[in-house]
Amino acid sequence: MTAVALLIDRLDARLPQTQCRQCGYDGCRPYAAAMAEDGAPIDRCPPGGQAGVQALADVLDVPAPPLDLSRGRPVPLQVAVIDEAHCIGCTLCIQACPVDAIVGANKRMHTILPDVCTGCDLCVAPCPVDCISMVPAGRAWTADDAALGRQRHRAYLTRQQRARAAADVPVAPADDEAVDKKRAAIAQALAQARARREQRRP
Ligand code: SF4
Ligand code: SF4
Ligand code: SF4
Repeated sequence: MTAVALLIDRLDARLPQTQCRQCGYDGCRPYAAAMAEDGAPIDRCPPGGQAGVQALADVLDVPAPPLDLSRGRPVPLQVAVIDEAHCIGCTLCIQACPVDAIVGANKRMHTILPDVCTGCDLCVAPCPVDCISMVPAGRAWTADDAALGRQRHRAYLTRQQRARAAADVPVAPADDEAVDKKRAAIAQALAQARARREQRRP
C-alpha cells in the first residue's frame, strides 16, 4: 500500500461515515482522498464537528482550523421516517440512500431501517409527495454506527457499479405502451397523494 493510500485510510477512519455529502464530496472516502491527495481543507465535515476537525488535524500534524459552518452545523443525530400512508412506492428514496437503509418495492410502501439510517437527509428532497421527515434519533452516533455506515456504503457503491455495467449491455427497445402505462400510474398516484394532502389541510 502506498503512503498516500495509507493516509487516505487514516483520514477516512476519522470521518463519521454518514455519507451526507455536506463536505461537497461524494461521501467520506472521496473527502479523505481529496485531503490526502489535493490538500482539501479539513474543516468541512459538520457531522464530525470541531472534534472531527481536530482528529483530522492530528493525523496531518497541522493546527486545527474552526469548523466551516457554511457547510452546515453539527446537530444531534436524526433519522428519516416515512409516512407510509402517503408513500406512493416510487422508489426514488431508495435510489438516493447511500447506505441502503430503505426497504420497499415499486408501488409498495417503503420503510426506513432506523438502526441503519445515518441521518444524511439525502432521501428527503427526492420524495415527490413530501412524506419523509427527519426526526430526532434519541441517541448518539457511535463508532459502531460509523463502521456500519462505511461497510453499507461500500456495498451500495458495488451494487451501483454492477447496475451501470449491466446498463451497458444492449437491451431490447423499450416497450412504448408499457412506458406510457407506467407514466400514467405514477401520475395517478401523484394526483391521489395531492388530493389526500388537500383533504388534510384545515
Ligand atoms: S460525514 Fe458527510 S460531511 Fe463528513 S466527510 Fe462524510 S460525507 Fe463528508
Ligand atoms: S434513509 Fe434517508 S436519511 Fe437515512 S441514510 Fe438513507 S438517505 Fe440518509
Ligand atoms: S420517495 Fe417518497 S413516495 Fe417515493 S417510495 Fe420513497 S417515501 Fe415513498
